Amino acid sequence: MNGHGATLSGAASAWNRRYSQRLVASFLVLAVILAAVAVQVYRAVGEFVATNHWVTHSLEVKQEITLTLASLHDIEASQRAYIISGKVERLEDYYRDFPRASEHSERLAALVADDPQQAETAARLHDLIQQRIDGINAVLTQYAKGGIEAVRTSLQVARSLEEDHRIDALGKTMLRNEEALLAQREKRMEEKAGLTTLLTTGAVLVCLLILSLALVALLREERRRLISDARVKSANVELTTSLNKSQDLARTLRQLSELGEMLQGCRSIEEATDSLRISLPHLLPGSSGSISLINASKNLLEPIATWGSGIAAESGVFSPNDCWALRRGHVHPASGTLPSFTCRHLHSDSDEGAHGSHCRLCVPMVAQGEMLGVLTVSDDAEISTEVREIAIAASEQISLAMANLRLQETLRTQSLRDALTGLFNRRYLEASFEREIQRAERRQLPLSVLMLDVDHFKRFNDTHGHEAGDTLLAQFGALLARTVRSEDVSCRYGGEEFTILMPEADSEQALQRAEEICSAVRNLDVQHRNLSLGQVTVSIGVATYGEHGKSAEELMRNADNALYLAKNSGRDQAMLAEVLHPKSESKTPLSLASVSRLGSTSKVG
Ligand code: GH3
Ligand code: MG
Ligand code: MG
Repeated sequence: MNGHGATLSGAASAWNRRYSQRLVASFLVLAVILAAVAVQVYRAVGEFVATNHWVTHSLEVKQEITLTLASLHDIEASQRAYIISGKVERLEDYYRDFPRASEHSERLAALVADDPQQAETAARLHDLIQQRIDGINAVLTQYAKGGIEAVRTSLQVARSLEEDHRIDALGKTMLRNEEALLAQREKRMEEKAGLTTLLTTGAVLVCLLILSLALVALLREERRRLISDARVKSANVELTTSLNKSQDLARTLRQLSELGEMLQGCRSIEEATDSLRISLPHLLPGSSGSISLINASKNLLEPIATWGSGIAAESGVFSPNDCWALRRGHVHPASGTLPSFTCRHLHSDSDEGAHGSHCRLCVPMVAQGEMLGVLTVSDDAEISTEVREIAIAASEQISLAMANLRLQETLRTQSLRDALTGLFNRRYLEASFEREIQRAERRQLPLSVLMLDVDHFKRFNDTHGHEAGDTLLAQFGALLARTVRSEDVSCRYGGEEFTILMPEADSEQALQRAEEICSAVRNLDVQHRNLSLGQVTVSIGVATYGEHGKSAEELMRNADNALYLAKNSGRDQAMLAEVLHPKSESKTPLSLASVSRLGSTSKVG
């Protein structure tokens, strides 16, 4: 991963650590608060339940006081009813009620046992009630003995009113005390209920607050995660892009190296041109372009290889002045941001008013300090830095290879061609003559040889000067090159003597071609320093393989003899060699060296 990606992941893990710590801390705080609140609520509820118990207890006490007094009144009522009615069955109510009064007073005493003041009052009440019941029993006994009269005069009856008052007073005192206790207990219960409500509400609010904070933290974390994901994605894209770029670069370097190797292996500029035509579209995909080489006179550039269909591929022959790259000796346009001129050789009508230079590139091809040509690239879109660099690197490779090939070609030409006329030299003739004879023999095809000698060339030299003589020889050579077929071999044999090998031409065709040459030379207007040098003529001797010999030496000698005859017959004409008689055929073939001597024997007086 790159540095940016590592920084991102380091920051992300630190953030994650901090986030986890905060989350755990929030959870702990929440847990502590909830536990504290739970303890507090538990205690408050406990106290509330206890208080409630005491409230219930007070209500029971009140009820028991009322029941105690009521059961006493019931006893009294049953007693009175019995005494007034005298009916024994009324005693049943009495016997049913009087144990209840004791029971209630005992239960009341038990209920208030925890409260000393109430317990003491309850004990006194119990005693009084016992005393009162005993009194009632005594009155009933008196009634049973003495009837109603005995009851009327009973002291006991008189005491009963006082005892009732005291019992009622004690009952009321107990009720008041208990009501006061009840009021206290109810108040405390309300307080506990209020506290519990407060605590629960507070706890709920605190929990809500902590949960809200946790929610905010979660949302922040989610947003941070999304941002982090986006960053990771963009870092990934960046990484993939740079990886692709590296792969592209490696592929381009490989292709450039292959191009270099291929060009190194080429033996001629034509071969190099063919390989460039194939490889450049792969090296600069999507673009179009051309490679133009400068001619020998350095005044024209001619496209030798084109690819694609853009403006750069349509460029024809143009002048070096039409290309800014060639004029400045630098890549055009330069890599700066300034708008620049469009080269005239790449100008099209659609460029009017537009900055067309954005999608064109000219790279000068220079090797060993010599301008060789220009590599031109055009694209619909802006030319990227990569394409620019590839074009520059390719141009360097191509320039070197082209310079090398040109040098090789020059050396080869110099070793095979005559510098003045551009025709093959005698060495080449000697090499090709034997080969052509073998081919003629093998294929049973004719082969003719023409020996040519410029008439009165010495006089021409003497009249117009040696330089003019050279001009004549150069123009004579050019005429021969134009006149013969491409498979014919035209050579400057030496001085003003020339030889033409004509494969597949029989004697008749060769003679006819020789006469055409005579005629063409006759019509040649040799110009030297803007002066016409007058008419020139040539004499030609023709010999054909088989008819006039079977070896190079023989054929050359007989063609030379025919030339001698043509000279003797008045020059400006072509003569066919004499057909050989079997006896006169040379038994021992002459060496090629002896052929070379033949040229100097064809002097005509
Ligand atoms: P003929 O018609 O019989 O062939 O007469 P000629 O004068 O052409 O023949 P000759 O052999 O007498 O003269 C050949 C002349 O060609 C002699 C030499 O100075 C001249 N010569 C040979 N090589 C060159 C050359 O490279 N340049 C020039 N200017 N002259 C040359
Ligand atoms: Mg001569
Ligand atoms: Mg001559």
